[in-house]
Amino acid sequence: MTSPASVLTPVLGSLYALQVPIPYPMKTVTVLIDAPRGGPVTLIDCALDTPEAQAGIEAGLAELGLHWPDIDRLIITHHHPDHYGLAGVVEERSGADVQMLDVEIGRGERYWHMLREWFPGHVKHMRDHGMPPEMLEGMRVENPQVKVASRITPLREGQNVQLAGQDWEVLWLPGHADGHLGLWNPAESVLIAGDAILPRISPNIGLYAYTRPDPLGDYLQTLGKLEALNPARAVVGHYGPVMDGVQARARELRGHHHERLDFMKAEAGKAPRSAYDLSLAMFNRELNISGRRFALAETLAHVEHLRLLGQLYRTWDEEKGVWIYHA
Ligand SMILES: [Zn+2]
Ligand SMILES: [Zn+2]
Repeated sequence: MTSPASVLTPVLGSLYALQVPIPYPMKTVTVLIDAPRGGPVTLIDCALDTPEAQAGIEAGLAELGLHWPDIDRLIITHHHPDHYGLAGVVEERSGADVQMLDVEIGRGERYWHMLREWFPGHVKHMRDHGMPPEMLEGMRVENPQVKVASRITPLREGQNVQLAGQDWEVLWLPGHADGHLGLWNPAESVLIAGDAILPRISPNIGLYAYTRPDPLGDYLQTLGKLEALNPARAVVGHYGPVMDGVQARARELRGHHHERLDFMKAEAGKAPRSAYDLSLAMFNRELNISGRRFALAETLAHVEHLRLLGQLYRTWDEEKGVWIYHA
């Protein structure tokens, strides 16, 4: 089953990981397939709705003798387009039960259903934090690579799901997304981590108009949780599919965010500025418009964390119509 030409990486028993192409800098996203004897067939995450990603998933299914209609259940780690994009397509082709953490359904997943209604607030949020109007003009209300699911079944933190004939505990790992889900197998010390932790890159921690108020605070707690869990192996969303050294990586990422917090405090102390102007100081390399929006969201996660700790404060500049952060 795993000849040299195999597209599947064995994870545990009947559970396999598949790297599916996406047109993002990470190049691939990890999709898991579990097809135990006697079923049910489970897919975890489903990439973007592109022909390349569909073909990639089909190749993985085919290697196990499966087709779209065989999928009984689709579990999604978080609502980002590269993990959720094909949800509606999988649902339509298979009738699969689509499952996400309850926290993620109310905000992240709803975001796709509410794009039109939430869009003005989304734009205002960035404008109020100093993003120049010309950088907001190109923002589109649609994402053609996302097909929403019509029905989602909520999973709850602490409940067990069965994969590869074993129990996996549902974890809530917020920060990168409010309702980011993890699946933990204590018997084998394996974690299905999605983007909660990644090798090579720091998972983007961004504050948006529709997110919880302190995503960085959430994420620092998630890193503590991962450090304590100390999994032997984790299946990750990008640059995997499998990584070890999760505990050390969690410590490294915490150090990285603490450095950025110190930098922000020092910069705001030198000259009070908008979050957008602070993002230019922190990400002082060439970035395209979407990179600039990510940079602003990441900067906001840091300055708002400091503000909620009482280490920065902000004032409204009536003339410019922007929030200004002060140390
Ligand atoms: Zn993500
Ligand atoms: Zn991702």
